[in-house]
Formats: sequence, structure tokens, C-alpha cells
Amino acid sequence: MAKSSAKKKAEKLSFQAEVSRLLHIVAHSLYSEREIFLRELISNASDACDRLRYEALTKPKLTKGDPDLHINISVDKRSSSITIADNGIGMNRKELIENLGTIARSGTAAILDKIASDKTEKKNDKDGMSLIGQFGVGFYSAFMVAEEVTVVTKKAGAAGAFQWQSDGNGEFTLSEAERDSRGTSVTLRIKKDAKEFMEPDRLRHIVKTYSDHIPVPINLVEGETSSRVNDASALWTRTRSQIKGDQYKEFYHHVAHANDDPWATLHFRAEGVIEYSGLLFIPTARPFNIFHPDRKNQVKLYVKRVFITDNCEELLPSWLRFLRGVVDSEDLDLNVSREMLQNNPIVAKIRKGIVTRVLNELKKRATKEPDSYAGFWDAFGPLIKEGLYESFENRSDLLALFRCHSTHGEGLVSLADYIKRMKKGQDSIYYITGENIETLMKSPQIEGFQARDIEVLLLADPIDDFWVPSVGKFDETPFKSVTQGGADLSDIKSASSKKKKTPAKKDSPGTQEGMEQLIRALKEIYAESVSDVRTSERLTASAVCLVAEEGSLDMNLERLLQQHQQLDKKASRILELNPDHELIKALAKTAKKKNGNTQIADAALLLLDQAHIMEGESVTDPVAFARRMETFMKNGLQ
Ligand code: ADP
Ligand code: MG
Repeated sequence: MAKSSAKKKAEKLSFQAEVSRLLHIVAHSLYSEREIFLRELISNASDACDRLRYEALTKPKLTKGDPDLHINISVDKRSSSITIADNGIGMNRKELIENLGTIARSGTAAILDKIASDKTEKKNDKDGMSLIGQFGVGFYSAFMVAEEVTVVTKKAGAAGAFQWQSDGNGEFTLSEAERDSRGTSVTLRIKKDAKEFMEPDRLRHIVKTYSDHIPVPINLVEGETSSRVNDASALWTRTRSQIKGDQYKEFYHHVAHANDDPWATLHFRAEGVIEYSGLLFIPTARPFNIFHPDRKNQVKLYVKRVFITDNCEELLPSWLRFLRGVVDSEDLDLNVSREMLQNNPIVAKIRKGIVTRVLNELKKRATKEPDSYAGFWDAFGPLIKEGLYESFENRSDLLALFRCHSTHGEGLVSLADYIKRMKKGQDSIYYITGENIETLMKSPQIEGFQARDIEVLLLADPIDDFWVPSVGKFDETPFKSVTQGGADLSDIKSASSKKKKTPAKKDSPGTQEGMEQLIRALKEIYAESVSDVRTSERLTASAVCLVAEEGSLDMNLERLLQQHQQLDKKASRILELNPDHELIKALAKTAKKKNGNTQIADAALLLLDQAHIMEGESVTDPVAFARRMETFMKNGLQ
């Protein structure tokens, strides 16, 4: 007796902190599209049916006696509640706590912080909601319309059922429950200001709008009668002419758990040696966790309309992980295990086919809709660059898709454009890498290029330091970093008439001699801290800059590797001087004097520190740097 009452007793549990924060945002946002709660709950019910269908392939007992999967929506006016019930896989106690008490997705805390900070900055609610939409509130969206949510569920093949209940305020209760058959019922006690959702016509309309593509029958149960609302055939099996644009969009929202519009929709059927169909989307907005280190692709694999897995690594290369949607194969065996999908020749063929289709679509859009393509590039360019690094067989196609900023002007340029604009005598594609475009535009190393009107590509993604050296060239033209080695600028005709001759040559022999003396003095002062000192043609405004030796690591790559503890020691650099700069001229004059070396030592060391600072690096000895700086300031002010 005592035992059975203990059994019924509800246990109180707290939500994970992130869930509480999320629920708070959901409940307190005046979200204009509250009706999406139904889409989310139907989506979960449909996923639960998909998962059961897959499990039943190997364990047919699971669906015995109740083989027809379905979702029922019913309204109870007396208790002001709506119930969404499915006969899918169900949940056991542990899953119930994990799935409806925590959020497993990585980056959750970060996105909640972002939403909170947008709020304090008084941005409108819509921004926060669109962020949260992208993130996907899923099950918790029920609290937009419900003051209390009750979930009763029984896992397929298990004996007991459980009840989960919460008003969305920090805690939920858990207890054992009665339920005859497998599956899950979610009952919402509807808030006073959400009574509109109790109307069957309204519900029918919402299901039609958002969930028509769901391949499981969705029935609206009114009293004794039940009527089917959706079409219930998998959207990708229908022909394109049967599908309206909005249906694609809703399907995208469902499979991608996304809230934006698809930027591209690829609906296709391949019929040949192997047969498969696909409905794939490229999102408009970059999904918030696309740079998660697991680099998993997100496309779902079906076999003959049965969901198999959303975790088939070999279905797509990692750099295509921005794709969302489904691929449905006719040739794979329905009983295929997830292990059997590895090194599977059918999967390999499908993968190849998808890559080709996506590349063709991108090529078409890049040519025909450059502005729209710029948006794609902004969101997913770094992934295409990963492809350049990893995928030898697609290299030339990917190079054609590549875009970047350059010194040519605003907007994105292609490599083909660059080649067309190359100057007479120019035989390399010049580029510079760094943290952002604005800083790169001010780099001393590109001054001489700009003076000669030679275009330099400005690359600001960390991966640029890897793919450019590994790809090496575009068609036959090599890439060359402007921060590395000799710049060979003398071979290229200068754009401005003033700069026709190289400065060193036009100078009088006296100045030339002074410069040589200065270089000797600097080498002595710098000793091991630089590998060479020389005059430069790449500078016009700045006095000095650092470059890497030809054939050594690019400077930005070196910094990157150091940040990630992949490299302990920096290679020493070459310091280049601008012989036309007043400061350098003055130093050269002093260097010629007696005791010249001692007189210029402090200035020389400051100059080297300054060159490091311009690279965004730290100075070797900050205290000594500050002392020297103080002395110079004091002298300057006297
Ligand atoms: P998502 O669907 O993106 O995983 P949700 O918040 O919508 O996130 O749901 C959380 C989890 O709860 C689901 O992944 C699933 O494991 C579980 N779940 C929700 N509803 C059901 C259901 N009707 N049947 C079985 N499991 C469910
Ligand atoms: Mg969901």
C-alpha cells in the first residue's frame, strides 16, 4: 500500500540553467508567430515516428499490433487544453529528463547571452526572436501558448509510462503514469490570451500551412470524429510542379530546424546506374554552430522513404555541411546498419552526384546573381575555402567560386577578374592575409603595390593561410604573399609618373652611400633579431616594414600557429626600409657621423618595435620600449 502511493508521488526536478533562461525568453517575448508551437510539436512527433520506423526494421515486434504511425491533435474545451499525441518511439524516464530538461546543443549559452545583450541594447524583440528561431526553441515553444504542459510517454518495447509536467518556471515534476500503448502525448493547458488556438479551423489552417509535408498522417480529432489534415506523402517524392514555394520553405524549416528562407532549393531525382532523390537546401543565414569542431554534415539519409540516419559522415564532404535536407536512396538495403554505410560504394556515388549538383548551382548563381551570391559567400565562403584545402578533385570548380575583397575597390572580386586586371610584367597573384580587411588595407607592405596600381587580394579568414599555399596557383598564375620575400616590383611598370624610376637609383651617390652605411649600422644594432636589413620598393608612406624570407612561413600563418601553440619560435624577419622617407634619410645622415651607431641606436630599436606593432605583434621588451619612447617624447617636447 505504502509502496504504491510512493510510486505515484511526483518527484520535483530543476531545469538546467540554460533551459530556464530559454523558457524565460520564450514566455516573455511578444512573439507574433506563436502558432509555430504546433509546428514544433508536430515536428517532434514526426521525428519520433521516423525513429520508430527505423528501429522496427530490425525489431519488428516494436510496431506489432499498432503498425500505422500517426499524429492526432485533439481539443478539450472543458479543460481548455490541446493534446498532440503520436504513436512513435516514446521516451523512457532517463530520456524524458535529458530531452525535456536540458539542451544538449553546443553554443547554447553563447546564443542566450547574445539574445540577452540584444535586449539590454533595446533592439526590438524581433531580432532576439529571429536569433532564437535560428537556434530553434523546439519543444519549449509550447510555453508561448500554454500555462502548463503535461507529457505522458511510453517507450516502444518498454513496460512503464512516465509523466512530465511543468509550468515553465524553473522546475518540472516527474512521476510514473498509466498509458496503454507506446508513444507520447503532449497536453497544453492554453493561456487565457491564446484561446484562439482552441478553434479547430484555426488548427487545421496552421497544420496545412506549416506541416503539410509531414509524411505521417496528422488527424484532427473533434469529439467522435477524426479527419486527416495533411497530404502525408513525403515532399521529396512529389514532382516539382505539385509543390508550391511555401511548401518547400516549410519543409526546410522542419528539416533544418531553421527560421530563415532557403537561399537555394535543389530538388532532384537521379535515375541511372543508381537511383536516388534529394531535396537539399542552402540556408540564407549562417547556422550559429557551423564552425563547431565536429564538422558534421546535417543531411538526413532515407532509404525508400524510411529515415535511416542524420549522421552518415560519408554522405557529404565536411565543407558542404551548410547543406540541409534529405537524400532518399532506392538502392541501399533497408536493413543497412550505420556501420555498413562506411566505405559503401552506393553512398560514394550519391556523394559525388550531390557535390556536382551543388557546385553547378553555385556556379550558376555566382554568374547570374552576383549580388545574391555575395550574401552566400559572406555566410559560407570559409567553408568553400575548406573545400579548396581538402578537396583536390573539386579544386578548379571551387577556385571559380572563390571571391574576396581586394585593393581594387569595394565589393567582391573573382580570380578571373584579377587576372584580367594584371599589369604588364606582373606574373603573380598578390595577396595579404590578416585579421580583418580594414587593417589589411593599411598594411605598409601593400603601399608600393597600390602606388603602382597593382591589385592585392585581402584575405581575412584564418583558413586563408592554409588553402592559398596548398593550392599554390590559379590556372598557371602563382599566388604570392606580399609579406614574403622580394616583391619584384621593379619589373612592373609604375602607375604614377613620379615613381617611374626606383628611388634608390635616382638618388645622388652621397645618399646612396649614407643608406649603405645606415644598413650596416642597423644590422649591427639588431644583431640576431632580424635576418636582414634592406631597402624596399614596397613602401611609400611608411618608414619600415617587416617581411618574411622567401620560402619561409607567411607571417600571418606563423602568428596563427603560435597562437595555437603549434610553433614555439618565430623565424627571424627581414626589415625593409623606405629610402624616400624623411626619418630614414635623417637616420642615414646621422649614421655617417662619428659615433653614428650609438647616436641612432635608440631610434633604430624603436623603429624595429614599431614594425612589429604594425603587424599587430607585441614588442620583445615592453619596458625598454617604453623608456626609449619616453626619452624621445621628452626630447621632442623640450
Ligand atoms: P529537437 O527536436 O531540435 O531535438 P526539441 O526541443 O523539439 O528539440 O525536442 C527535444 C527532444 O525531446 C527531441 O530531440 C526528442 O528526443 C525529444 N522529444 C520531444 N518530443 C518527442 C516526442 N513526441 N516523442 C519522442 N521524443 C520526443
Ligand atoms: Mg523539435
